Amino acid sequence: MRYLDANASEPLRPEARAAVLAAIDVVGNPSSVHAAGRAARRIMEDAREVLAARFGARPEDLVFTSGGTEADALAIHALGAGRRIIVCATEHDAVRSAAPDAATLPVDGNGVANLDALGRLLADQPPALVCLMLANNETGTIQPVAAAAALCRRHGALLHVDAVQAAGRMDVGFSAVGAHSMAISSHKLGGPIGAGALLIAPDVTAVAPLIAGGGQERGRRGGTPALPAIAGFAAAASVTGETAPLAALRDAIESVALAEGGVICGGGAPRLANTTCIALPGVRADAQVIALDLAGIAVSAGAACSSGKVTASHVLAAMGLGALAGQAIRVSLPWNAEQDDVSAFSYEYRRMAARLREALVSRAA
Ligand code: PLP
Repeated sequence: MRYLDANASEPLRPEARAAVLAAIDVVGNPSSVHAAGRAARRIMEDAREVLAARFGARPEDLVFTSGGTEADALAIHALGAGRRIIVCATEHDAVRSAAPDAATLPVDGNGVANLDALGRLLADQPPALVCLMLANNETGTIQPVAAAAALCRRHGALLHVDAVQAAGRMDVGFSAVGAHSMAISSHKLGGPIGAGALLIAPDVTAVAPLIAGGGQERGRRGGTPALPAIAGFAAAASVTGETAPLAALRDAIESVALAEGGVICGGGAPRLANTTCIALPGVRADAQVIALDLAGIAVSAGAACSSGKVTASHVLAAMGLGALAGQAIRVSLPWNAEQDDVSAFSYEYRRMAARLREALVSRAA
């Protein structure tokens, strides 16, 4: 199988696997005061230091969670209390479902947030919490989060940045961005599933937990932390780096798709190097995903979390793509993608496009 669905979950990096296996045999709860507990705690605090340094935060400002979804939910719960919430139209459901009554920040045809509109929304009724992702999971579109953070700070608003897809694939400096919180997730950067983190700016002093439990994470997230997943998370993060080589592979895929009549969604904006979202006019996204799957190529239609449903992508709809919103697949190259993967995809994509186009013509006749 050619796995080209990294934005759903990256393949585990060998460094992360080794760290998980080493930590899984550690006996002890990081909260226990005895030597075994202290040894477990050391692993956790080492991981915290590695991750904080990697993403530009102080170790004490990093709260471990079970993943990106929980980190987003914690941010909205803790920072959104008593504030009006404004959510960018292309946010992941992890954010949208945690703020169902939020006002919507519109995007342009490439999926880039409209900061003039944000300024108007913020002038309206402060105080607010704004949620703007760093990179989109479907299109890879990169948002102007530093400019949004400056705007929010001018208006006394808070900014939460979902950096789940960006972390490990582009430069992510939490304090440099100037946001109030930022979500990251282990399995999106080659670590194991089951760990994530919320980075919280030093000027956010009170963080009400979503899960109070036994007061772990300095009262900000209760529950015994998933030590092996956390150790693997840090090991993976520390070996993430340059993704520019993936851009050449992505561009090769796009030129094949364009030659077949495909449309690159969000292609006019700065994007993650590993991601492309390709619409094939008139052909349903699920038909494309199934045809490629039968040929041994794993891609997805819209967000992985909703790939079981055959609904149009809310991201592409917000970009004004109309019917194309239900006709696009996402190809997201994993960290270990190779030219062979691109050749296999290109061959199968051409066959698939020809076959589905023919089916369209014979149905119309
Ligand atoms: N935010 C974004 C942008 C995502 O793409 C995802 C998962 O696809 C999440 C949040 C949820 O992260 P997790 O799977 O770690 O809960």
